[in-house]
Amino acid sequence: MALLEVDRLRVEFPTRRRALVAVDDVSLTVEAGEVLGVVGESGAGKSVTGAAIIGLIEPPGRVAGGEIRFDGRRIDHLSDEEKRRIRGKEIGSVFQDPLTSLNPLFTVGQQLVETILAHSDRSADDARRHALRLLEDVGIPAAAHRIDSYPHEFSGGMRQRVVIALAVCAGPRLIIADEPTTALDVSIQAQIITLLKRLCREQGTAIMLITHDMGVIAETADRVAVMYAGRIVEVGQVRQILRAPTHPYTTGLMDSIPRLGRDDADLAQIDGAMPRLHEIPDGCAFHSRCPHAFDLCRRRRPVLRTTGETAAACFLFDQERSDDRRHRNSR
Ligand code: SF4
Repeated sequence: MALLEVDRLRVEFPTRRRALVAVDDVSLTVEAGEVLGVVGESGAGKSVTGAAIIGLIEPPGRVAGGEIRFDGRRIDHLSDEEKRRIRGKEIGSVFQDPLTSLNPLFTVGQQLVETILAHSDRSADDARRHALRLLEDVGIPAAAHRIDSYPHEFSGGMRQRVVIALAVCAGPRLIIADEPTTALDVSIQAQIITLLKRLCREQGTAIMLITHDMGVIAETADRVAVMYAGRIVEVGQVRQILRAPTHPYTTGLMDSIPRLGRDDADLAQIDGAMPRLHEIPDGCAFHSRCPHAFDLCRRRRPVLRTTGETAAACFLFDQERSDDRRHRNSR
């Protein structure tokens, strides 16, 4: 049994006219100790998927279908109080903006100690010692002194290190990290990713890493789920997808990764933009941007099918449809 199982998740945002579907029929698993990357452009539904898992969908948004199970226990229909308890103890989170996770009115030490005390039976002194160890562990210089500083007294990169300490201080089994490095300088990004990976490896914590950056996935994840317009369009082992991406959208994302020895002029962007929630077209949602689209793609929505070592939602890899296309093209 996987640590996290998301089964046919659907998240809707009701409007006066109709419900907009932000996440549609998404199924994924995260094994204990694994790093699952979830990648896609802005609006793909990846952050909403993460928010649904930790019970933080902003109303009137709601989980409208499917199930989320953590360690075999269904968690999507728990009370707010029960979700909050799981969020602190079992599932940690790191967001793009560290200030959303830190209270400006309390020192970082107070915040760490309070979280540790809420989720363990340590004494206050022991909790402070643990907090200090964590700050040293995440690379805060002069931690014994900085433990009594307020969040605004840290740089962006240091603040994100504090948030990571806060996310791991209760010993969670899963961390949802949503664009944890996007707001940081490029030079700091790699340090934060390395830190997150090291802490999780040492503690056996799984990570669901949400990012728009395929380069971050390549550095970090074991498996990757590629999302487009609220659905997973490809999922598989990272090394397999890096070597031979299957879905045309994944191929487009791969072509946009800067690589050593490749001229920046060779970097290709995918033409067009992700459709907004009220504009998701019929058929394959990627068809207006896909260089391989054919007639069927505009009419029918492809489902995720195993295509060798990955699974992809694309008619090019659906034998019957693909034969039909070849047949038509040859006439
Ligand atoms: Fe392109 Fe068609 Fe595959 Fe969609 S189903 S990715 S439009 S070839």
